[in-house]
Amino acid sequence: MAPGDDLRALYQQIILDHTRHPRNQGRLEGPDCYHARGHNPACGDEVEVWVKFGPQGQIEHIRFEGQGCAISQASASLMTLKLQGATPTAARALLADFHALISGQGQVQNEEALGELRALEGVQKFPQRLRCATLAWKAAEQLLPQAQLPAT
Ligand code: ZN
Repeated sequence: MAPGDDLRALYQQIILDHTRHPRNQGRLEGPDCYHARGHNPACGDEVEVWVKFGPQGQIEHIRFEGQGCAISQASASLMTLKLQGATPTAARALLADFHALISGQGQVQNEEALGELRALEGVQKFPQRLRCATLAWKAAEQLLPQAQLPAT
């Protein structure tokens, strides 16, 4: 086995696991829940994201529904785990790092925060899949300005 094969197998497994058993799947209902939708016509991926913010502006609940390729759905599922509890600032920082990771452009600022998102690092070699991997993230990003930050 060549060095790196173990890691690749592990990453495959993470993606497969999230595709088969998506986390935080479903909708959020209520007047204080926000919703955005993403569509990637090149691949046919659809993702909808729901967010409810907590009193400190943090992402209290996040859920998604979607259909499409494994990359788009696994990325959405991983995203919900990562953004749960995050402040809008932390969410934007993670989004920037995730984009740097999968595009190979820019510097990752916080390696540690990426964790299982590393499973999608291979997207770097397939730039046409970039939109698949970022679809859910862009939908979530649209919702961040809705966070009510406590007055300081
Ligand atoms: Zn796709």
